[in-house]
Amino acid sequence: MAYPTGRHFLQIPGPTNVPEQVLRALAKPTIDHRGPEFKALALEVFAGCKRVFKTENQVVIYASSGTGAWEASLVNTLSPGDKVLMFETGHFATLWKNMALRLGLEVDFVPGDWRRGVDPAVVETKLAEDRGRRIKSVNVVHNETSTGCLSRIAEIRKAIDRAGHPALFMVDTISSLGSVDYRHDEWGVDVTVSCSQKGLMLPPGLGFNAISAKALAASQNARLPRSYWAWDEILAANKTGFFHSSPATNLLYGLREALRLLEEEGLENIVARHSRHGEATRRALKVWGLENLCLEPKEYSPILTTVVMPGNTGADRYRGVVLEKFNMSLGSGLGQLKDRVFRIGHLGEFNDLSLVGTLGGVEMGFSLAGVPHTKGGVAAAMEYLAGA
Ligand code: PLP
Repeated sequence: MAYPTGRHFLQIPGPTNVPEQVLRALAKPTIDHRGPEFKALALEVFAGCKRVFKTENQVVIYASSGTGAWEASLVNTLSPGDKVLMFETGHFATLWKNMALRLGLEVDFVPGDWRRGVDPAVVETKLAEDRGRRIKSVNVVHNETSTGCLSRIAEIRKAIDRAGHPALFMVDTISSLGSVDYRHDEWGVDVTVSCSQKGLMLPPGLGFNAISAKALAASQNARLPRSYWAWDEILAANKTGFFHSSPATNLLYGLREALRLLEEEGLENIVARHSRHGEATRRALKVWGLENLCLEPKEYSPILTTVVMPGNTGADRYRGVVLEKFNMSLGSGLGQLKDRVFRIGHLGEFNDLSLVGTLGGVEMGFSLAGVPHTKGGVAAAMEYLAGA
């Protein structure tokens, strides 16, 4: 294969492009994870994580993917047979539900059409109906990466409070943290699950649990088996700046640098940047005459846009053309959306010109693959970016 000149456009909604500074930080020599240099690194990233999750409590960091951090959230807080309220917002919500079932939990899985987020009114009704208080946790995916629909976490918190229900509230922020407004403490979330390869602009390999005092108290009585994921040993070791097993030292170097970059730009500016790029992408989509999978404007994801293929088929062939001709990876349709949609990731290490390049590849790909569309989407996005 000939050397592809220019940088690969990794425009899937995670893993995202890793900034040069982070790549360089990852390449530092590995150090003794029981020595003083490591302690300084760990204490710095612990403090930075608290600021990104917006919590005063310790954030547990695992050497794991996001799936591991999902498992940690469940096994640390729940017992066999506990009932969990989950919502079918898309592929990832379905996988988290499947994991809960495999762990021996009972799941009330509220059906959905994979085109919108969780309805806070349904949360309130479900909890109000649960007079025996059997539901032990409400689990929501903040940004459903398979569909491009957001769930409104602050409103769901209010719905739980209106129902006066004591269930824990767990939120998957795997593709929203560091890109979309998120506040663990203020929104009364008990366990926030996240990972490294999306808004944090790192390679895959770190999983996170931000934990409330209520979740920590629940973990004292939780009876699901756990060992590697158990919070108590990790938190005890973290107190002194260390880990109880070998940490992913080089990813922590990268995390320190990524947190520095996020803080330099400012979380509010980052959130505004992502909303602006989401809006520009949707303007392009409108001109192309193609459909956004997400149906609710207030739930449009700022970090990815899922495009429905005309005729509901051919997305994989189209993505193949874009990869071959323009060296750009677009996200595939997952689960029941396979081949029916493709996903444009516009998150992480990304700016106006990255978006124009991305949308340019998407529009040229339509012509080459024979996808019916109206030309001019990129021009509409550029006009918006130049004016806004
Ligand atoms: N949850 C969401 C919302 C995701 O987007 C993903 C992965 O893309 C996961 C969970 C699973 O994370 P991982 O693939 O890192 O295990």
